[in-house]
Amino acid sequence: MTVLASGSKGNATVIAAGSTTILVDAGMSCKELLRRMAQVGEDPGTLNAILITHEHLDHVAGLSVLARRLKIPVFFTEQTHRAWVRMLTPRTTMSYTKWLELMQRDKEARAEQTAAAYAPEEESAASAEQSVEQSVELDAVDPTAHSAASVDSDTVAPKAKADPAFLPEVEYFCAGHGFSIGDIDINPFTIPHDAADPCGFVFHARSESIRMAIATDLGYVPPNVKMALKHVDVLLLESNHDLEMLKDGPYPWSVKQRVLSRVGHLSNTAAAEFLQRDYDGGAHTIVLGHLSERNNLPELARLAAEQAIGDRMSLLGNRVLLAAQDAPLNPICL
Ligand SMILES: [Zn+2]
Ligand SMILES: [Zn+2]
Repeated sequence: MTVLASGSKGNATVIAAGSTTILVDAGMSCKELLRRMAQVGEDPGTLNAILITHEHLDHVAGLSVLARRLKIPVFFTEQTHRAWVRMLTPRTTMSYTKWLELMQRDKEARAEQTAAAYAPEEESAASAEQSVEQSVELDAVDPTAHSAASVDSDTVAPKAKADPAFLPEVEYFCAGHGFSIGDIDINPFTIPHDAADPCGFVFHARSESIRMAIATDLGYVPPNVKMALKHVDVLLLESNHDLEMLKDGPYPWSVKQRVLSRVGHLSNTAAAEFLQRDYDGGAHTIVLGHLSERNNLPELARLAAEQAIGDRMSLLGNRVLLAAQDAPLNPICL
């Protein structure tokens, strides 16, 4: 497992076993994803598929560009795919020039906001990238627009230019039903989060008998998730916010309510409760992820998790790592 990025501004993780490599989520620009893969020595050319947890921008911002460039299939649930397509399909047609004007006005408006103004957690940097991608598509349908922004217009089929949600290949899976990609068996499980059909995953490398799991973007840990996370060797678990920091922080009440809700994000306390009460203690490594930059501190997340694991921490296992937003983690190899 290689966590390329984790947090409200973008998520992506590489899972590899045998001759199979899968990218889970593509929540940063294609360029940034490729840059980070190069940084940790992952060859994008070896990626067999992209797997999507849910359609929030911090998980799909670079998806279409990356999938088209690499010409690899994307696995979604049908509902997530539909929600993603809806999100990408512009309701109105506008020229590239018009779009630029709009972006400029938007930028100026934002500059006027005070430092205390907030941006909802999952829509900040990622939305900028999404806009850039949409500009490519808008550019392509407007014959009068210049083509400077058409990043990959040379490499995509004509159909792709007209359809922002065009992907080289789409595969559907269902939560609760296992499937395989090459050497990796995948068990998707439903997570409680405010998206169309959000999922976490357990990956099983058949030949090595190694299991790795990803469980981020969940409001709480329901019984099906507790079951799914048994006997995993590496666990990427959300530890999103410190409850006090969130309550005292700059978010408006409605956003605080959303984060705290049963379909929001897992707090340090909730992650710690899971680790103390329900976790079987068998993991080689626990990676804490999707940390809020405004409402959490890495030290607080680590402390809560380490206290919860308590005496089960040993030199042999249960080491706690923190996934970061701005830099990839070194590959975790078993
Ligand atoms: Zn997220
Ligand atoms: Zn989300």
